[in-house]
Amino acid sequence: MLETQNLRAGYGHITVLWDLSLTFREGALTAIVGPNGAGKTTLLRALTGLIPYEGRILLGGQPLAGRKTWDLAAQGLVMVPEGRLVFRDMSVEENLCLGAYPKRCRGDVSAGLDRVYALFPRLRERRTQAAGSLSGGEAQMVAMGRGLMSQPKILLIDEPSLGLAPVIVNEVFSIIARLKEAGTTILLVEQNTRVALSVADDVHLLRGGQVRLSAPAADIALDRLHDLYFAREA
Ligand code: ATP
Repeated sequence: MLETQNLRAGYGHITVLWDLSLTFREGALTAIVGPNGAGKTTLLRALTGLIPYEGRILLGGQPLAGRKTWDLAAQGLVMVPEGRLVFRDMSVEENLCLGAYPKRCRGDVSAGLDRVYALFPRLRERRTQAAGSLSGGEAQMVAMGRGLMSQPKILLIDEPSLGLAPVIVNEVFSIIARLKEAGTTILLVEQNTRVALSVADDVHLLRGGQVRLSAPAADIALDRLHDLYFAREA
């Protein structure tokens, strides 16, 4: 349902993504893995209209060229940035409510909060606390909860395991697996290939801004992925 065709993007005169042609299946969880600087976050930024690009991005066959981030979020394409990017001076609940700004979600804010608190009971306990004083895992939950308040059809999640203790990583990933089971299409950028493979249906490996491997997760052996991950540029 979401695809890129010869996508080329970067910053100023620096090209980061080189002619990426990728498909993301509806209802599937696709992991985007690759070493530092591979262009994974840049891909999410292009998909959510945050940076200009060449080539095409299609959603349900319709080109997204020129569409603004807020407009895409209103249509259900929502990015969850890494947890450190919450609004630190605002409370947990104020952060969550920001996610309910698409028009179709505004009437339903308290039901949205209830859904988020059911998934993350710890956030209910801390709803009046400043987001800047949360632990890394709690901040990641706020970032995800804020995305869920927009009632996404496609959720793009950037590095949810970054800086988290293993037990919290498991907690966050069990929520991601539940969101997939509930029918949300998920694009997951993740450095931790082991956990990424454990939840993914499909995997795209990026290196140097190019696709090095696209395959069903079930067909990929972890050591083969690591070989490709660390291979030197030709
Ligand atoms: P990581 O896993 O380290 O987050 P990544 O695969 O997500 O890496 P990107 O963040 O997409 O990689 O960065 C790809 C390249 O683009 C890097 O060389 C980075 O320095 C560069 N880059 C990222 N953001 C900017 C920016 N705002 N201005 C200029 N260059 C940038």
